[in-house]
Amino acid sequence: LQRSRPKGSPIGHCLGARHAIPAAAMNRLDSHLAAALARIDAAGQRRTLRPAALAPHGRVLREGRELTDFSSNDYLGLARHPLLIERAREWTAAHGTGSGASRLVTGTSEAHLALEARIAAFKGTEAALIFASGWQANAAVIPALLAAMPGAAVFTDRLIHASMHAGIAMAGVRQHRFRHNDLDHLETLLAEKGKDAPARLILTESVFSMDGDRADMRRLAALAEAHHAALFVDEAHATGVLGPEGRGLSAEVPGAIDLIMGTFSKALGGFGAYIAGSRVLIDYLVNAASGFIFTTAPPPGVLGAIDAALDLVPGMEAERAHLAALGTRLRTGLAALGLDHGASSTQIVPAVIGAEADAMALSARLEDAGFLASAIRPPTVPPGTSRLRIALRAGHAEADIDALLAAIGAAL
Ligand code: PMP
Repeated sequence: LQRSRPKGSPIGHCLGARHAIPAAAMNRLDSHLAAALARIDAAGQRRTLRPAALAPHGRVLREGRELTDFSSNDYLGLARHPLLIERAREWTAAHGTGSGASRLVTGTSEAHLALEARIAAFKGTEAALIFASGWQANAAVIPALLAAMPGAAVFTDRLIHASMHAGIAMAGVRQHRFRHNDLDHLETLLAEKGKDAPARLILTESVFSMDGDRADMRRLAALAEAHHAALFVDEAHATGVLGPEGRGLSAEVPGAIDLIMGTFSKALGGFGAYIAGSRVLIDYLVNAASGFIFTTAPPPGVLGAIDAALDLVPGMEAERAHLAALGTRLRTGLAALGLDHGASSTQIVPAVIGAEADAMALSARLEDAGFLASAIRPPTVPPGTSRLRIALRAGHAEADIDALLAAIGAAL
């Protein structure tokens, strides 16, 4: 690099002086990126990374301060649970830090297969498959499904997660969007746009990540049946928190959902994701989902933590009941302050503020006062519905909710 540097040109530093990159090479890329960043700045949308660390009792450490955390998704407090830490340590000590290869090469251990059988039993399906992350699962699985369903009509709730949109975009398929949780609208679209298609696929979430409301599983199952449509449900925020033993809302309609996706990264306190469904579905994905085939298998420590979480989650009824009670307390308090909390009925509670600048200012004021509640703004949520997204943790006490409400009231 040093030798190829044009005479007199400055050196940009990337990985330190020994790995300096010639400025000319950086400019070929960076000039474009700097212009794109300037557009992000102009729109007031620039984001930056700020370090934080989860702490017990629903707290988070950020920049030397301990804040009450209403932003993380560690709903059950498992991310720092001694049993998960110990099992991750044990499995790492026994099997190493890396899995060594992708699943179809030598990356499949006995532990992967045993864990997949456990997840299938937990979700009440024939089979399950572990993915590196929820984003990757959605982005990899949807194009694989659509490759096997040529000409399929795809129906999506307007508020599905970005990772599902990535999967649909990768498939190059047009989607028919129905209004959020409006299953009458879905029914109309199924009848209008679906009837002449060779196949139909409905994509939705059981608990919506930004609104904390639930989809009606029974009606979705009935619509899928009546219109002969395959049903795909993302349970990222329901897994561990809702349903009997934390099995998610899919447990309300056993056998009626063709594909259930969920993550280990939220209530289960770990990392990675699963797809649960029929044996045929899983066998197909092993052969066709690029984001499964061409990535290294999740390592032993990650699997150990998931295994321990699955030991604990079914018995965490007290934590689930506590989260539900905190949610009710928070919604009642927000309503008393005149704030709209939408249709939330879970551990995720929005406080809709409206203008982006107001939501940002409120979040900043709360942080000054010792509370971390993220402002969520377009494009993540529709314009005019910028909000605080308040995520509850089982470690919170009722007094934490009351203190947050008082701080919101004061800031307003
Ligand atoms: N689906 C939904 C609904 C999500 O909220 C998320 C996480 N933000 C994901 C998928 C992606 O999961 P992961 O964080 O494991 O990649």
